[in-house]
Amino acid sequence: MPPIIDLNKCIKCGQCVDICTEDVFYGSKEGEVPTVTYPKECVHFSGCVYVCPVPGAIRLRFPLPILLVYKPE
Ligand code: SF4
Repeated sequence: MPPIIDLNKCIKCGQCVDICTEDVFYGSKEGEVPTVTYPKECVHFSGCVYVCPVPGAIRLRFPLPILLVYKPE
């Protein structure tokens, strides 16, 4: 499931775009809220969430099969 960006919290720094190893944010423009272009490309490694400097600005929705084995730190 794709990342969800809170438009009211995002400061448009682009760090989530830079760290994403897939094409999830493909075509996002610098200085704008990132665009989730290819949501199905998300592999849920959570780099975007960890690198985001604003708590709650971005979060992931984990698919049920991943939730079943997911263990929060
Ligand atoms: S890292 Fe967080 S604050 Fe920066 S662009 Fe991405 S969602 Fe917005």
